[in-house]
Amino acid sequence: MTNKMYFIANWKMFGDLRSLNSLDKVIKFSKSKEINKGRLIYCPPYTLISSFLKKFNNCQIDIGAQNCHESQNYGPYTGHVNSHMLKNIGANYVIIGHSENREKGENDQLINLKIRNALKAKLKVIFCVGETLVDKRKKKTNLILAKQIKFGLDKIKDKKNIFIAYEPVWSIGTGIVPKSKNLFETIEFIKSKFKGKSPKVLYGGSVNPNNIKNLKEINNIDGFLIGGASQNSNKFIDIVKKTYS
Ligand code: PEP
Repeated sequence: MTNKMYFIANWKMFGDLRSLNSLDKVIKFSKSKEINKGRLIYCPPYTLISSFLKKFNNCQIDIGAQNCHESQNYGPYTGHVNSHMLKNIGANYVIIGHSENREKGENDQLINLKIRNALKAKLKVIFCVGETLVDKRKKKTNLILAKQIKFGLDKIKDKKNIFIAYEPVWSIGTGIVPKSKNLFETIEFIKSKFKGKSPKVLYGGSVNPNNIKNLKEINNIDGFLIGGASQNSNKFIDIVKKTYS
């Protein structure tokens, strides 16, 4: 485990104004010594970004969005939000390339454009990569990851504002996590794709308070992208606490 760990909460399409109350205990926790060197980032749905920002006004918890449009400019794109608009309201991060959006047709080229424009807008990018179960069974994991990284980060020289989230698709929301040895090797493989300093590499997929004890022992992981468990503040806090205990 690296010392300064990132814990990124992906709320997906969950949450409403009533959910804000559940954040009080996370705010309290973020101000305590127990947070250790953990960095907390919440990615709520667009509708809650402003409310989360107000709520986290006096603490160190950062905010991100779950996606953005690829265009840098305003435009006739009904239902979309671009990275400048996110930065403008106070978000500092954006998740790009999540498998739930890849499944809906986002390809590597589109993801690359989104990442480049998000970086121009001074957002930090949580770039998701991961193989499907079919890929894994065909032993194509490294091939898929290499392709997603090559094309997703094409023409991007400065990678200091990029985090890579390794999220095997078969692990998201299933309760199944990769074997520790395999996960260590995959994270090493991802890091080996970078000539200079590698971006931080996070793991995502069914992280919960029960499996965090094993996951934290994998010493090349720089943090976690947490979906389901992050919507429950007690579980989210527990994951952070157990990482450092
Ligand atoms: C995710 O969708 O980014 C994720 C990690 O989900 P879960 O933790 O629910 O598997």
